[in-house]
Amino acid sequence: MTLTTSIPVKKTTQSRISTVDFKNLGFGNYISDHMLVAKYDNGAWQEPQIIPYGDLMLSPAMLSLHYGQAVFEGMKAFYMNDGAINIFRVERHHKRLNKSLARMCMPAISEDLFTAGLEAIVKTDAAWIPKDDGSSLYLRPVVFASEAKLGVKVADQYLFVILTSPVGPYFSKPVRLKVELEYVRAAEGGTGFAKCAGNYGGAFYPTQQAREQGFDQVIWTDAKEHKYIDESGAMNIMFVIDNKLVTPALSSSILDGVTRNTLITLAKDMGVTVEERKISIDEIEKAFQQKTITEAFGAGTAAVVSPIATINIHGIDYQLPEVKADGFQLAVKKKLQDIRSGAAPDTYNWNHIIR
Ligand SMILES: *Cc1c(COP(=O)(O)O)cnc(C)c1O
Repeated sequence: MTLTTSIPVKKTTQSRISTVDFKNLGFGNYISDHMLVAKYDNGAWQEPQIIPYGDLMLSPAMLSLHYGQAVFEGMKAFYMNDGAINIFRVERHHKRLNKSLARMCMPAISEDLFTAGLEAIVKTDAAWIPKDDGSSLYLRPVVFASEAKLGVKVADQYLFVILTSPVGPYFSKPVRLKVELEYVRAAEGGTGFAKCAGNYGGAFYPTQQAREQGFDQVIWTDAKEHKYIDESGAMNIMFVIDNKLVTPALSSSILDGVTRNTLITLAKDMGVTVEERKISIDEIEKAFQQKTITEAFGAGTAAVVSPIATINIHGIDYQLPEVKADGFQLAVKKKLQDIRSGAAPDTYNWNHIIR
């Protein structure tokens, strides 16, 4: 089945693109003209279609609202140097979506539906892909239970929707993070590895508390002992200690970030030693005291790397040195940018190119 050519498109008669300030996009402020919608019913995904973006008619009894069957992805499309459109790492995002869906007892989405759906929506709203350096079209596939019923059950009806949003370059100023020692985001055996909506709902309160205390985000620690580092907010966390790239090993309580995987792969190519293992708070505290920690940053699709300025451990602020032009973060970000733009060879087939 080749869906790409066959997905019907109902075009809007009132494009909103003239209202977009492409010089000041920010993140998530605009939603493009169209959306892809596919229904799951009678045990199968039905033919997807592209329609003008707008409200859907849904029952307040739909099961996702009550029992939380909702998962999503976050990815990016952009123009390459030669004018082709690139959707980055489609395959890996697809695999992760299906892992999240399986954990929530939701029906898998075929690679064909996912890929063809992304290609079709990106082509339809190609005019919304920003052209400035570092800008991109953020893609938000989301799947949720749409069946209306109050009884606690696994839903029989779902919607798969892809929204897109033009986003600007994410110049994240170095952030202040607090190691969270009271609340947890995810426990081993829970849903932390799934990109499900509920993980975010539960993270808001502790994050809000941290904001009131003057921090930007929290660093989550393990649910059992609050001793080991999991990740930070909606990003995986990485450190440069003794010139090695050190990051928590994946577990059921950590989201398997595509950016994390990309940066680890590139670091190895750059000859940097990479350690994926348990990292205790004590180790980080000692590394600050002995000045062996030189960089710390978040890794995620939105910002790629987000430098960390301060880590608060047991009430003490530890400062990272300023991000250096010849440091790891900027070097790896440049390497990634070169692959995505076509300036460097795409050895790992990460680029999904549409012409
Ligand atoms: C999406 C997400 C990340 C980052 O994953 P990427 O695939 O790199 O964007 C990290 N942690 C959490 C909790 C997330 O939801």
